[in-house]
Amino acid sequence: MTNASAPTYLDANATEPLRPAARETVLEGLMLSGNPSSVHAEGREARRFLENARSRISAGFGRISGTCVFTSGGTEADAMAIHAFGRGRRILIGATEHDAVRKAAPEADIIPVSKEGVLDLEYLRKKLSDGVPTLVCVMSANNETGVLSPLRDVATLCRDSGAHLHVDAVQSAGRVPFDLTECSVALSGHKMGGPKGAGALLLPQDEPIDALMIGGGQERGRRGGTQAIPAILGMATAFEEAQKQDWSAVDRLRERVEQTAMEAGARVAGRGAPRLPNTSCLILDGVAAQVQLMTLDLEGFCVSAGSACSSGKVSASHVLTAMGETTGASQAIRVSLPWNVREEQVVAFCLAYERMAARLRKVES
Ligand code: PLP
Repeated sequence: MTNASAPTYLDANATEPLRPAARETVLEGLMLSGNPSSVHAEGREARRFLENARSRISAGFGRISGTCVFTSGGTEADAMAIHAFGRGRRILIGATEHDAVRKAAPEADIIPVSKEGVLDLEYLRKKLSDGVPTLVCVMSANNETGVLSPLRDVATLCRDSGAHLHVDAVQSAGRVPFDLTECSVALSGHKMGGPKGAGALLLPQDEPIDALMIGGGQERGRRGGTQAIPAILGMATAFEEAQKQDWSAVDRLRERVEQTAMEAGARVAGRGAPRLPNTSCLILDGVAAQVQLMTLDLEGFCVSAGSACSSGKVSASHVLTAMGETTGASQAIRVSLPWNVREEQVVAFCLAYERMAARLRKVES
């Protein structure tokens, strides 16, 4: 939306606005009429574009093309990894994982996090020391708080104990560098500024896996179903654009949001931990998240409460609960600045937040 009265979108972790370069590539993809599995000229042309996207994404993660399996998004990539690497292994997942992981591994043991939301490495080390074959699922960045996991240390523990590491990099891909190659990785195109409907699972090596979807044997038998070429091409372009972006400018605007919120009486979840440059989880004690959301919505700001994937129903956040919050877990909103955020939007949001906090905290006290 571009008109003057359009709402201000500050909910990038739910989905990033489409990047113009990605839009161009999607349109190009829409003009490719062939099915990449067909052997004729039209099919071969579609396949050429598909493989080009595959090698660009793999290269961005320091991997060869054959390690990249395209999916419909992050949820499918997580489910696929747990299906492929969880069989015959005990599963350990971080306490603040997204539902895409939690619900795909309902029997998993939980690795606790600190009050700042950082994974408990000592717990993981002790668990892995028993030698039981294990799949460890850890997100690189949390979708609600932006807190980053100590991935390098996790990877070392997994390597030393022979465990398979799966990383949900849906929120960090393109926003922070990623250089681990000995793990599987879940990606989602629309969180990078690509269109919805494409994602990828990167494998540690070019290897066969036990497919979740079998069908026509596409993706070399690793994921059946005709590939969503326009969305996949858009994802590849969005990823490259996101990697080129100067995120420190976004980080500075995020700091303004947090300073304003703290002066207005809010607490920032995970503020002491390394975090994504665009995400703030603001807890306004005594004021229900739903009320904050509605107030800001009326003022023209799109933010979310708890996990955006379940927005519409606002319940206590399992992420904040794992960080030791009690009532605060239902009194937090997430502000996630999009790649194209403008300073004047942040200034306007800060004013609206101050007004809201002054009014609602008075009502509640
Ligand atoms: N993992 C994380 C950390 C997420 O934040 C999300 C969506 O918010 C997903 C997985 C699911 O991704 P998708 O919407 O592409 O299925």
